[in-house]
Amino acid sequence: MTGRTKRQAARSLDAMEWELGLHDWAALPCRSCWNAAHVPDELRRLALARTTDAAKPTGIEYHVFQETWATWTAVPVARVLMAGLTRRTLSPAARHAFLDLLWSFVVADDEEIAEACKDVVRTGLGTLYEEVFSGRAIGTAMFAYWLLDDVDEPARVERLLRDARHLLPEDLHPDPPDAAWPGPHPVRPRARHTR
Ligand SMILES: [Zn+2]
Repeated sequence: MTGRTKRQAARSLDAMEWELGLHDWAALPCRSCWNAAHVPDELRRLALARTTDAAKPTGIEYHVFQETWATWTAVPVARVLMAGLTRRTLSPAARHAFLDLLWSFVVADDEEIAEACKDVVRTGLGTLYEEVFSGRAIGTAMFAYWLLDDVDEPARVERLLRDARHLLPEDLHPDPPDAAWPGPHPVRPRARHTR
């Protein structure tokens, strides 16, 4: 490390940590605990996961959301996830988990919570387009596509399909899976898409 990069590192902040610090988690609801005070550490753990197994959001599922219900804690969690996706060090497994969680939130039954989470996702459209364009992983690209299809303008999503179709799975409209957690080739869970 040169002196200059050292000075830069000393000055730098992590967007995800910054976002975690913005919320009073102990004042937020959890479905299984007294409050959501445990959620930041679970998100930090997920962000460092290197394998699909390690990236299972055991402290989020049944706590912040499950199947189609979600608590309002999903909204600040969505903010943290969007910030986390900008981390260059995030492993493919962690990226997959982050995007899968975001997808679960935007399709929650509670329309108000789902809409609030969509508003959060809209703040990071560039991050989601980059996820597709990067060609890193077809599974994460697909979640990013589904999120964009849900929140961005149709003309832009059509253009995305025209320019980046080769970076997405052949079948973009699979049947909902039986398995609760997707494997290496995730299919679209809890779908309520109509197109
Ligand atoms: Zn809990």
